[in-house]
Amino acid sequence: ERRAAATAPITPGALADGTEVPLLANLGSAGGIDAALAAGAEGVGLFRTEFLFLDATSAPTVQEQREKYRELLAAFPKQKVVVRLLDAGADKPLAFLNPEHEENPAMGVRGLRALRANEDILREQLTALAEADAETDADLWVMAPMVATAEETRYFTALAHELGLKTVGVMVEVPSAAITAKAILRDAAFASIGTNDLTQYTMAADRMLGSVAHLQDPWHPAVLTLVSMVGAAGAELHKPVGICGEAAADPLLAVVLVGLGATSLSMSPAALADVRAELRNHTLDEAKRFAELAVSADDAGAARAAVIAAIAQKE
Ligand code: PEP
Ligand code: MG
Repeated sequence: ERRAAATAPITPGALADGTEVPLLANLGSAGGIDAALAAGAEGVGLFRTEFLFLDATSAPTVQEQREKYRELLAAFPKQKVVVRLLDAGADKPLAFLNPEHEENPAMGVRGLRALRANEDILREQLTALAEADAETDADLWVMAPMVATAEETRYFTALAHELGLKTVGVMVEVPSAAITAKAILRDAAFASIGTNDLTQYTMAADRMLGSVAHLQDPWHPAVLTLVSMVGAAGAELHKPVGICGEAAADPLLAVVLVGLGATSLSMSPAALADVRAELRNHTLDEAKRFAELAVSADDAGAARAAVIAAIAQKE
């Protein structure tokens, strides 16, 4: 009996009205694959490749990378796997990509900026991904971190296409990218919103600094307004908009994010069950109504309280 229960299929992410909201896993190593599969992840929404190389003193070879990506992709046949290119800098420094000391690394040469300054490393990573993709049958999507402009988007998507990648997108985690999401999504096949950094930059609150942690709250209407801009651009251009920051792991906020236009949610595997259960309680119309309440609140606490009150009224 217990065995049957443990292996019962887990239903895909969906709202009460049947609207599908794929629930994906955030991973930083192959070590998380089993947990993601056990939790019923419908794929991977964020594979943080820089975690593979935090201790490396020199850039990993194409072959070394290909092996790791192949292991990841082979675990998710036919499923979506979104791999993020090296996001080096600030909270995730890599010796071979961030050699300079910066006074303010969160606003320095990080993410795509660091890759662009070391284009050989960027080309090698894209090549390793394209080769692993050719050897497996997962649905590989690749994306660049810390994109700030449409020009950067064009640069990255052109290079990734040139090197054989098919589905190429960007992370939206800098306010400028959210505000110009329409221009960015003309070239990007999809956007994935990183709410951790988007909140940090919107609130001017260092995500590493405990003394400003109260400001690092993705419920803040300023953050939600930026999410809504990306959601609207995605809907208009028919491009998927995922969420891969920690905000997606908060069940009520996950409902709000779907109401703002998110088409998939990615989170640590441990959070999947609670988010899946909460989505089932609400229709898309309700999620949109909660989103409107949250966006028009005065602050993060009021946004959350308004959504909780609206849900209580339903019951
Ligand atoms: C984010 O910024 O929200 C994100 C998903 O990326 P990371 O936390 O790795 O910076
Ligand atoms: Mg980030």
